[in-house]
Amino acid sequence: MTAPLFERAAFLGFGLIGSSLARVMRRGGLVAEIAVCARRAETLDAATRQGLADRTTTDPADAVGDADLVLVCTPLGAYGQVIQAAAPGLMQGTIVTDVGSTKQSAIADLKPHLPDGAHLVPGHPVAGTEHSGPEAGFAELFEGRYTILTPEPGTDPAATDAVAELWRRAGSKVEIMAPDHHDQVLAITSHLPHLIAYTIVDTAVQLSDDLQKEVIQFSASGYRDFTRIAASDPVMWRDIFINNREAVLDILGRFTEDLTAMQRHIRRGDGQALEQVFTRTRAVRRGVIDMKQDKPDTPPEGNRGT
Ligand code: NAP
Repeated sequence: MTAPLFERAAFLGFGLIGSSLARVMRRGGLVAEIAVCARRAETLDAATRQGLADRTTTDPADAVGDADLVLVCTPLGAYGQVIQAAAPGLMQGTIVTDVGSTKQSAIADLKPHLPDGAHLVPGHPVAGTEHSGPEAGFAELFEGRYTILTPEPGTDPAATDAVAELWRRAGSKVEIMAPDHHDQVLAITSHLPHLIAYTIVDTAVQLSDDLQKEVIQFSASGYRDFTRIAASDPVMWRDIFINNREAVLDILGRFTEDLTAMQRHIRRGDGQALEQVFTRTRAVRRGVIDMKQDKPDTPPEGNRGT
């Protein structure tokens, strides 16, 4: 244990991400006191039961009073309402950060409600699971994963450093990025793949009952991986698509063009064109593993059915 990085932290929202970060803080003694705010008694009881909250409340202004670090960890759609309710309690000099998956919308929702002298350091841990709620959290969630911070120019460097240090103590690699660039990158690496998974799984759901049974039965042949992604939290993902509309629509346009090209290759029986694409994509998988963003494939590629 080292000296705490912060005196008092206040979590606004305490699900998978918030509770995982609170576990990191407790484990490392990174903060002297933790206040937790959520709407439901079950959420607050779980925070207390797990020894993660020194104080719980349903009132955001009460949670942030005296806090030198405020962490907004609700779904994106609740940001405006939560920060507006918290604003009367925010101290001068408080660092306000968040964990939301889209960053331009986070800044637009949070910034107008902060008092002069508060520091906004938006953040996004690029780590997660398809599970939600405080019981789903674990301290190792962020280890080896990237956390992207998107402070606006002019933000106090000491505030950015303090938030970066918190994520480093969680085992994350920290990157600083412009918020619009973050939203473009995540549209392709995260938002589009989720949209495709939701759509493929739903296409199968719309098929006749008999075929659906077989889709589940033979799911090892590719569909299974999509079902895991498509089981992600509906509210969280609703908010991501609404809040990153422009970047997602842009990348979806490009994807649709590429899909149409693939359709043409198949119709024309152009095996060479298909093989070229598949060879390029196989190299991407090797790059992901080399950068330690996934475990090496086991069983070996090609042994998972077709
Ligand atoms: P989660 O597990 O569903 O938790 C959300 C929390 O927010 C719950 O504690 C919920 O408790 C609380 N909440 C919801 N609406 C609220 C409101 N209006 N006022 C106060 N509290 C409210 O969500 P999560 O997965 O931790 O995601 C939180 C944020 O992290 C999201 O913005 C998401 O974009 C981002 N993120 C998620 C992942 C991921 O894989 N899950 C990864 C990276 C970033 P009550 O219902 O009791 O209020």
